[in-house]
Amino acid sequence: MKTLNDFNFENKKALIRVDFNVPLNDKFEVTDATRILSAKPTIIKILEDGGSCILMSHLGRPKGVQEEFSLQHIVSKVEEIIGVEVKFASNCVGEEAEQAAANLEAGQILLLENLRFHEEEKKGDEAFAQALSKHGDIYVNDAFGTAHRAHASTTVVAQYFEDNKCFGTLLAKEIESINKVMNTGEKPVLAILGGAKVSSKITIIENILDKIDHLIVGGGMTFTFIKAQGGNIGDSICEDDKMELALEILKQAEAKNVKVHLPVDVVAANAFSNDAETQIVDVNAIPEGWQGLDCGPKSVANFDDVVSACKTILWNGPLGVFELESFANATIELGNSIANATKNGAFSLVGGGDSVAAVKQFGFQDKVSYVSTGGGAMLESLEGKTLPGIAAIIND
Ligand code: AMP
Repeated sequence: MKTLNDFNFENKKALIRVDFNVPLNDKFEVTDATRILSAKPTIIKILEDGGSCILMSHLGRPKGVQEEFSLQHIVSKVEEIIGVEVKFASNCVGEEAEQAAANLEAGQILLLENLRFHEEEKKGDEAFAQALSKHGDIYVNDAFGTAHRAHASTTVVAQYFEDNKCFGTLLAKEIESINKVMNTGEKPVLAILGGAKVSSKITIIENILDKIDHLIVGGGMTFTFIKAQGGNIGDSICEDDKMELALEILKQAEAKNVKVHLPVDVVAANAFSNDAETQIVDVNAIPEGWQGLDCGPKSVANFDDVVSACKTILWNGPLGVFELESFANATIELGNSIANATKNGAFSLVGGGDSVAAVKQFGFQDKVSYVSTGGGAMLESLEGKTLPGIAAIIND
């Protein structure tokens, strides 16, 4: 696996696929610059080597050329974060971009216009990828968020660089973190899966059962398992057509010596609302008209015991409806447990969707080992899929 450290970029032009798909407000100002900050170490290393950077990214989902999706809007933010003037090419391919890239001197940065202004990008078009490849000597992929897409700039372009391609700092860190959880992590290894539905997590569960020692199941998924085992779940969310699968997962887990921890009590509410009446009840005895929207105190304590006994921890999905303050407690407490375990030497990875939002909302991002930057890409990695953007750098 080649990283930036395998290259000296002196007098080289690096063509870097970054993920600058940042949110903008109605004045086209960047409202969350996390993704630009995440790309900074890669850009700085190349500039410090004496190289130059040609940055390419998508922004939003434009249909053809649409001014509101222009990457021109973010130029000043990138300049502010990197501390270097950023030149801009108003088309990512063609003469203007080629000239601008050719004229780039050591220490300079060029940002190309939105790749998705060309439909060839998402189609993975070879001629378009080849046109992009002309801009640089070395291809660097630092965009984990799109690594699961076989697009021209994320995958196809790599074939034009033979040995001159590598992962950027961010993407390398993502790969390393997933690898720690899936292959090299210190035991016991724990996966915590929450969120709404079993159906969206089933492939992950099946894939990770071979790699973990403990599995905590929380969130709305819980009730499919509980009902399948004969419990009364009241009006809680449930996928009846997945109950057999839930039992099968429990059987497989037992055969593989994976200890499954389900909630034993829940915060039940008489409506899906912050102001609903609530009561703590046994997970198997939720009254009709009530729904479990968070894990209860006994479950929180049990989960804390499990988390503090584990050395490698993966967290995907909230333990309750954390968006509503009344049902955020178990998710917050789990964040605290993981933060403590991390302080005591465990490796913790938070990845995929809503658990990342929860970790950020409750201020845990600096208290866990790594927070993934890619939702879909992280989920597909946990499902055991080889991401095309990663394969293109490793295998070609
Ligand atoms: P996912 O995207 O599958 O990780 O699901 C995240 C969503 O699951 C969040 O929006 C939570 O509000 C929701 N969720 C968590 N626990 C429950 C629950 N007990 N009942 C209904 N929805 C839940």
